[in-house]
Amino acid sequence: MREQFPIVTAHPESAYLDSAATSQKPRAVLDAVQTYLTTSNANAGRGTYPWANRTTELVEAARERVKEFLHDPEPDRSTVHFTSGTTEGLRTVARDWLVPYLSDGDEILVPFADHRANLDPWLEAGRLLAERGVDVHVRALPYQAVSGDYDHRALGDLVGPRTRFVAATHVHHVYGGDMNLHRIRAAVGPDVPICVDAAQSVGHLPVDLTGAGLDVDFVVFSGHKAMALPGTGALWARNARGPALRPAGWQGTPNTAGIVSLRAALDWLDAAGPDRIARWTGGLTTRLTDRLSRLDPYEILGCPASLAADSALPDAQRRHGIVTFRHQDIPSDDLGFILYSHGLMVRADSLCQAGATAEDGSVRVSLHVYNTAEEIDRLLAVLTSLA
Ligand code: PMP
Repeated sequence: MREQFPIVTAHPESAYLDSAATSQKPRAVLDAVQTYLTTSNANAGRGTYPWANRTTELVEAARERVKEFLHDPEPDRSTVHFTSGTTEGLRTVARDWLVPYLSDGDEILVPFADHRANLDPWLEAGRLLAERGVDVHVRALPYQAVSGDYDHRALGDLVGPRTRFVAATHVHHVYGGDMNLHRIRAAVGPDVPICVDAAQSVGHLPVDLTGAGLDVDFVVFSGHKAMALPGTGALWARNARGPALRPAGWQGTPNTAGIVSLRAALDWLDAAGPDRIARWTGGLTTRLTDRLSRLDPYEILGCPASLAADSALPDAQRRHGIVTFRHQDIPSDDLGFILYSHGLMVRADSLCQAGATAEDGSVRVSLHVYNTAEEIDRLLAVLTSLA
């Protein structure tokens, strides 16, 4: 599959290890955009001529494609909004759905140690409501110390009759662990809407809304992290618990080329097989963590052993292609620079984790389907030389 990524094959001397920030794009996605822009580019939703009608059809087809990709069990009931990424999707849920839904005395549970994009909108919603005299209690989802997973047992004690909403994350962007959302559903019961930040799971592992594994109400993700163009994302809403999110209208000009790219990206990912992708990146992750955990000066953030406690996932998949670590003596920006001098591109800047300072001074390696064992070995060789 690596051969299908032009930027990767054009730069064999470099290893792109920052896919959690944004993914590279396969040729099929680039071709779909080129075809669209050279055959029917027009504005959407205002069709009085064939190119405009075609553009509208492509946007609607992409909406259906998102539902299909997520294995939406009730596609006639759900809505899909296109966004510029996860940040805008979560803001949309907060502003357009959560604010009108909450009343005085309600409680919401939100993650204080995940990505900031999954905290600020909920805090802002609480502030906005307070200004209108509506008091909403914003509570922190509890975490297990060390592992980074939620503390599902403590969560059970926090849930009460006024709990009206939970925001959570599917795969953590620093620890790479699956956050076991079925256990959040078990803790809050069948009636509380759950919104999921799926920025690090879509494109990396199956995201399947059928069955009890992912019984959630909103799925928000970034297209650009899942093989589509920059500035793309989607928000899916089930519309079964609480009021329905109003359907996306045609106000303003949508990112039509981006939406076309998202549909092509989801086609590509389904053909590649999200479970196969998870196995591939899981194998590379294990290759990296097995060796890195035995190199003294490095500390890997998050603890796979406790993530394992009651995870049904096989070992290799426990961290979904994300490994964050620090060197006891070398600051992260220096380590990032040293790695780059060997052609290895990692994240060595802030990881935008809310609240916690645990990520400070750390470097994140994040993988996708185009990464290889040879690249991991190159990385390990440099890290070993610094140990
Ligand atoms: N949530 C998570 C878990 C993320 O990893 C990211 C991107 N780093 C975001 C939200 C924000 O995504 P975007 O920049 O596409 O809005």
